[in-house]
Amino acid sequence: MSGSEEQLYITSTQIRDYLFCPNILYNKYVMNIKEPVTMMMINGKERFEEFRRKGRRRLTLLGERRIKPDKILYAEEVYSRELDVYGVIDIIYWIGKKAYIVEIKDSDLNKAPPDHLYQAVAYALMAEETFNTLVFGVKIYYSISGRWVEKRITREMRRYTKEIIREIKRIFRGEYIPEPRLIGKCRSCWYRNICFPGRYGVKQREEKGRHKVLKKT
Ligand code: SF4
Repeated sequence: MSGSEEQLYITSTQIRDYLFCPNILYNKYVMNIKEPVTMMMINGKERFEEFRRKGRRRLTLLGERRIKPDKILYAEEVYSRELDVYGVIDIIYWIGKKAYIVEIKDSDLNKAPPDHLYQAVAYALMAEETFNTLVFGVKIYYSISGRWVEKRITREMRRYTKEIIREIKRIFRGEYIPEPRLIGKCRSCWYRNICFPGRYGVKQREEKGRHKVLKKT
């Protein structure tokens, strides 16, 4: 897929961002306000790449699950021209005519939050069109906790994923601006001072003060 063609597509990362919070999507891609890259992000990415390299070398990631695929592909580009979405899947494998998506997350989670689950379903929809195949299920592997989350893809999951993609397009077309809603995630979100100016200022000042005291001793 050429660079210019890619521009027309919504990416799987944007789908995940929207599901985490529509305001993150809006701030990042409409307002172009990007969170600075932290050492934590760099380390996480390196761990993930290392894990993926090992997985590719050994071809045994699925061995732990006693799964013996007939065919397996790693880091494949997938897209849906029908939905205008694009991404790179970690693993797709087939048993007979049924395909499965494996998504690897560098995380210690035990359960899949909606942003992880529906990102994986979006990959499934893309893979179906790219490979002209039927994707039966998604599997999310959390590399730190070692947990697998497995889901069969239902009709309702497909419908909801398409609805999300439509909503993202509406935001990108400027049809509406998502209203920030104060939720639990806001406390640790880098965008909190943009969504709720002033609200978290006092806490940040307090933290700054505490760091100063710690430095003195
Ligand atoms: S601060 Fe809250 S509402 Fe704003 S982007 Fe972050 S999670 Fe979303």
